[in-house]
Amino acid sequence: MSKRVPLIVGNWKTNKKVAEVYDFLQEIKGQLPDPKQVQVGIAAQDIYLHEMVKRSQELDIPVDVFAENIHWADEGSYTGETSPAALADINVSGSIIGHYERRKMFKETNGSVGLKVTASLRNGLVPVVAIAEDTTRYNPDDEDMAPLTEIAVGLAGVDKAKAENIVIAYEPAWAIGASEAPSLEVIEHAGRVIRNSLAILFTQEVADKIRIQYGGSVTPENSKEILGLEDIDGLLIGRASLEPAAFLSMVKDA
Ligand code: PEP
Repeated sequence: MSKRVPLIVGNWKTNKKVAEVYDFLQEIKGQLPDPKQVQVGIAAQDIYLHEMVKRSQELDIPVDVFAENIHWADEGSYTGETSPAALADINVSGSIIGHYERRKMFKETNGSVGLKVTASLRNGLVPVVAIAEDTTRYNPDDEDMAPLTEIAVGLAGVDKAKAENIVIAYEPAWAIGASEAPSLEVIEHAGRVIRNSLAILFTQEVADKIRIQYGGSVTPENSKEILGLEDIDGLLIGRASLEPAAFLSMVKDA
């Protein structure tokens, strides 16, 4: 059995108005597991993060609040960007880094991912590094190389001593927002390839501590079997995380 604590993160993207954010927190109050057994997080738009941290503390909800993106500099002249130091200052737990939508629409590269991972670790934030596979469909001939390149380039500058705090989210571009997730064999294989890549980059000991999530068309119908896979230690969930009942059902599967 895995000694890694599973991490389930909802990625709300650019959804929800403030009243819906509060309603969601109210609905999950008293329903989350002990964070030592299962860690639960929600990634939301920056405008909500400070209030989400405060409300979850007030309501005693063991949920970690995540950003969906950060800038790599702690301060300076970067109009419109969000400082990782400022996020840490308001007790945000971490951030998704390099989500496929950011790579595709906002020209995020493995280079900027690397800078943001380093900035996260410097500020004590957990970087949830999304490995998007740079393809638009499943390509069996490429399955070893795509995650390897993103990990090798994106994480090359990371300090080995801090690397165990990274979380990898295997989120193939072709499975995000799709009608179904890949087969369990594909996900299991990707998990193994990613852990092997991490071992090459950091050491096996560090790789064994890094949590690997799966993301892409996860629902309450497939979450349990995905979480049962050897190298998969959690989920990054888009659409199905927007409704509290569905989200709680997937959290309970961990
Ligand atoms: C995502 O984009 O992070 C994601 C996992 O989306 P969905 O679950 O909706 O496929």
